[in-house]
Amino acid sequence: MSRIVYLNGEYLPEEEAKVSIFDRGFVMGDAVYEVTCVLDGKLTDFDGHMARLARSLRELQITCDITPEEWLAIHRRLVAENGLTLGGVYLQVSRGNAGDRDFHFPPAGTPPTVVLYTQEQPHMLDGPKVEKGVKVISVPDLRWHRRDIKTVQLLWASLSKMAAEAAGKDDAWFVEDGFVTEGSSNNCYIVKGDTIITRPLSNDILHGITRAALMKILAERQMKIEERPFTIAEAQQADEAFYTSASAFVMPIVEVDGVVLGDGKPGKLSKRLREIYIEEARKNAI
Ligand code: PMP
Repeated sequence: MSRIVYLNGEYLPEEEAKVSIFDRGFVMGDAVYEVTCVLDGKLTDFDGHMARLARSLRELQITCDITPEEWLAIHRRLVAENGLTLGGVYLQVSRGNAGDRDFHFPPAGTPPTVVLYTQEQPHMLDGPKVEKGVKVISVPDLRWHRRDIKTVQLLWASLSKMAAEAAGKDDAWFVEDGFVTEGSSNNCYIVKGDTIITRPLSNDILHGITRAALMKILAERQMKIEERPFTIAEAQQADEAFYTSASAFVMPIVEVDGVVLGDGKPGKLSKRLREIYIEEARKNAI
């Protein structure tokens, strides 16, 4: 069944939503995006996603005058029109169509191109990855150095994920100067004893909205957190590992570069944190 999608102020069947071949997002990857999870038909961590969107737009000097209230209304209408209960809403804002391929700022008043659509993910809450945990390989981090901005330039992320799949694994961890930065589309954590270790925020990683929610949960429960970089060798000796993202919540990791962690099953703490995160996400969903 065809979805109803949003394009520049209009709600259209997906086949009718057309973007120009001159769009800066298409020719230059000059665009930012967000993915907000939908649980029970409601949007989770919505304010966090909109705050990060505003920051990404500001950092790239893309002008978009849609207000937070309007973003919420668009999201809600798409969720309702498409009857989405479990999945996500993808949102993208590009610098727009300057009428030609051109590196300069588009003429003043060129509107951004705004696209939103829903994606169903029926196995977000269960499925084999949750049951068995995921296996990761490491690859060098060959991305640009403003990973804190959520741009659509996902070439290295997708090549790395495809390399992992070709190797019979699930995902890739990026390594820079000997330390893990993050996963291809998630933030990474290792567990040693009762301590959860994760890389601190900087321009080296995306400031995950799920990471922020989890850190709050951990702080409220007075759990031990160490924000510091870690190596692949340290991860391989950890008791547990997991990653976080809006569409995967807290996902247990059971293997790093061929080395099995613990007994090879999702760790106890990782599973517990997944449950708590989902519970809290449900509570704050709007
Ligand atoms: N890092 C990267 C590189 C990502 O692509 C994502 C997912 N968008 C994340 C981290 C996790 O961010 P969030 O929790 O906001 O989905």
